[in-house]
Amino acid sequence: MTDILPSSDSVRQLVAQFDAELAQAKSTRDRQTVRDRFLGRKSGVVAAWMQMIATAPPDQKKQIGRWANELKKAIEEIWLGYQQAEAVVVGLQGIDVTLPGRAPRLGHRHPLTLVRDRLEEIFTRMGFAVVEGPEVEDEWHCFDALNMPAEHPARDMQDTLYLASPIPGDSPADHRTLLRTHTSSMQIRYMQAHAPPIRIVVPGRVYRRDDLDLTHSPAFGQIEGLAVGEGLSLADLKGTLLAFARQMFSPTVRVRFRPSFFPYTEPSAEIDLSCWQCEGAGCAMCKKTGWIEIGGCGMVHPAVFEAVGYDAERNTGFAWGIGIERIAILRYQVEDIRLFYENDLRFLEQFPY
Ligand SMILES: [Zn+2]
Repeated sequence: MTDILPSSDSVRQLVAQFDAELAQAKSTRDRQTVRDRFLGRKSGVVAAWMQMIATAPPDQKKQIGRWANELKKAIEEIWLGYQQAEAVVVGLQGIDVTLPGRAPRLGHRHPLTLVRDRLEEIFTRMGFAVVEGPEVEDEWHCFDALNMPAEHPARDMQDTLYLASPIPGDSPADHRTLLRTHTSSMQIRYMQAHAPPIRIVVPGRVYRRDDLDLTHSPAFGQIEGLAVGEGLSLADLKGTLLAFARQMFSPTVRVRFRPSFFPYTEPSAEIDLSCWQCEGAGCAMCKKTGWIEIGGCGMVHPAVFEAVGYDAERNTGFAWGIGIERIAILRYQVEDIRLFYENDLRFLEQFPY
């Protein structure tokens, strides 16, 4: 075939021949053989014509070159068409194009994440900044600075998980390291780094030496709030918590403070909300009392301000701590805290947003 001389007739003839031979070829291998006879780098007819350009008389070089290129282009185009058709056939093997498409399964956020996001949203809207801190803490940030010196009985109140080695380059050598028992340690870190006035919420995980049961977990979520400035009062604290409770649960909820004790606040109180399900009449959710406890709060103890170098005469502040699981249990009417940790999709799928 390489002895066919270049001419416009032979271009047409060869292109038609190539097309016809490909159409007759029965396998990919046969088609490849046909292709090589035309486009093969050494023995293909296109290659032969290209070589003729070099030996042709000068006045014919240009014309031969044109025919050679014309042939090459036409044959390559036909070949490409066959290759594409072949790719489609290969791609379709094993696929039934008449079947309906498969919709990808969409994931969604965990109910505890939904609650945490909602808490952050509410407090952010009230002007609180969201900050996070380390879960591995030292005793000073977790206890001493929060008015709980070494022999303080409150230090035993919380069964703490201590760690074997100190935080490198962070804690003084005589301070043991631990898994934080409350997010209040971040109050200290934040106040050390920022001058008043401040307004922050600290969501995060805390750890206690507790067994996992219906209502307890050794690791759980907390959201801490802290506001410090001049002239802040208990009324500001109550107003903040009331605004939060009404956005979180029901617009008619009331807040009640019950006297309590925490070393880092004075006065201290437990936060009760009027039951939004029975409106105070008594139901299972409020255990027939009409009130639901959601956390603790109080005015920041002057000793805490002194520990971080704040002027305790000039500044007042309020703080609170609320359990994230506690809020989730109330919001979603879940009775067993363990359901939040088991990652059973049948449970999790009930909280699509
Ligand atoms: Zn009730």
